[in-house]
Amino acid sequence: MSKHYDLICIGGGSGGMATARRAASYGARCAVIEAKKLGGTCVNVGCVPKKVMWNAAHTAHSLHRAQDYGFAVGEVGFDWVELKRRRDAYVERLNGIYAHNLDKANIDFIEGFGRFVDERTVEVDGTRYSADHIVIATGGQPWRPSIPGAELGIDSDGFFELEALPGKVAVLGAGYIAVELAGVLHELGSETCLVIRGQEPLRSFDSLIREGLMEAFHAEQLPVVTGFEASKLERAADGTISIYGKDGRCLEGYDTVVWAVGRRSCTGSLGLERIGLEVRHNGDIPVDRYQQTSVSGVYALGDIIGRYPLTPVAIAAGRRLADRVFGGREGRHLEYRCVPTVVFTHPPIGTVGLTEEEARAEFGDDVTIFTNRFIAMDYALSKSKRRSLMKLVTVGKEQRVVGAHMISPGADEMLQGFAVAVRMGATKADFDDTIAIHPTSAEEMVTMV
Ligand SMILES: Cc1cc2nc3c(=O)[nH]c(=O)nc-3n(C[C@H](O)[C@H](O)[C@H](O)COP(=O)(O)OP(=O)(O)OC[C@H]3O[C@@H](n4cnc5c(N)ncnc54)[C@H](O)[C@@H]3O)c2cc1C
Repeated sequence: MSKHYDLICIGGGSGGMATARRAASYGARCAVIEAKKLGGTCVNVGCVPKKVMWNAAHTAHSLHRAQDYGFAVGEVGFDWVELKRRRDAYVERLNGIYAHNLDKANIDFIEGFGRFVDERTVEVDGTRYSADHIVIATGGQPWRPSIPGAELGIDSDGFFELEALPGKVAVLGAGYIAVELAGVLHELGSETCLVIRGQEPLRSFDSLIREGLMEAFHAEQLPVVTGFEASKLERAADGTISIYGKDGRCLEGYDTVVWAVGRRSCTGSLGLERIGLEVRHNGDIPVDRYQQTSVSGVYALGDIIGRYPLTPVAIAAGRRLADRVFGGREGRHLEYRCVPTVVFTHPPIGTVGLTEEEARAEFGDDVTIFTNRFIAMDYALSKSKRRSLMKLVTVGKEQRVVGAHMISPGADEMLQGFAVAVRMGATKADFDDTIAIHPTSAEEMVTMV
């Protein structure tokens, strides 16, 4: 038996779900094929459970500082098993809501692994489904290097399966997932270290953010091992894991090692060779500005295209594609610029637009930088202070703000509004003319000199 649709989305994560739901709202007959759980990475092993863990870590951080405000908190218990139980139940509820949303929109949910048979046909468990338009939104999965003993470590998916708080843990990696997981484990009480290949984490972020993050790690006494490239993991006689480096160093005594060294696109088993679809050597699928792949009527969006691997980006690309193909909104597409993003560290990082380095490369001497380093009022009564760092990157005589970067308590909630301003082309004068909100950290963004 086979069935024909207007649209099939392979992958029921952020991108696939958003595309199908928007297309269905225009009356398109749609199906979503999902091999694992609805909601994809974000809901099951990404943003959502990660933010729950960050919230828990943030609570721990606040408890540690409660005495600054006169509370006698003493030793507080923490139950990892209970936290995990509640988090998993929340994720399961979301899975149910996603299934319900498909149902409500009359979208067929096909459970199983989809493979192309030809340009218009996908097979799932022996059944064929065809469509006029097919979207590949199969996302990515954690990657680890092929070195001896690599399997002794877990990855970010494994982090969400941990049944107990690790005692001593090493997180390998320098990207946002690595720094977030290291921060959570540290705040919750694991003896944590971050192990990176270079000298600083978050290489693609503005230099001020890297400076602020290293400073925060130092203040929080979270050690960062730099210049370390793992060559081998080994189980020691006492059952702990040792990590050997290419330079002969050995880091010892870990009960848990977390690989967070990158992700790879899930293109391998899709049968793309059968339809002659172009794939990059790393598995990413190249697309044009309309998410169109090298095969007409087959689109790709979300993490699979290797640009801005973020949930709201996948959703925005999918909705715009559906608007264009099924909603009659000709030319509609996603501009991959001014994408705001937050890294959930302690304190959190918010960033939008060009870094100073990028702006200087593009605009040279036309760039003017404004920075602010201050102690947020959160720490006014603390003995141990933490600095907040903020930067505006501006261009031209009119000082158009092309980048805003911050590491500060509240940056996670602060950034969205500033992202609107940067996207609309606000100038430094617009920022200065905006009345500050006092006393906040956000006011430092509109009072920079
Ligand atoms: C630890 C972690 C934390 C993150 N935190 C954030 C955050 O705070 N904010 C943020 O914006 N982003 C975050 N992300 C990134 C975010 O999760 C992704 O950008 C987003 O999920 C990408 O959506 P997608 O639709 O491209 O792919 P996914 O959400 O990965 O969905 C792809 C789906 O396709 C399915 N699939 C794959 N192959 C097939 C097949 N052949 N047939 C059927 N189904 C298939 C998979 O099972 C999966 O469910 C995080 C990611 C991780 C790993």
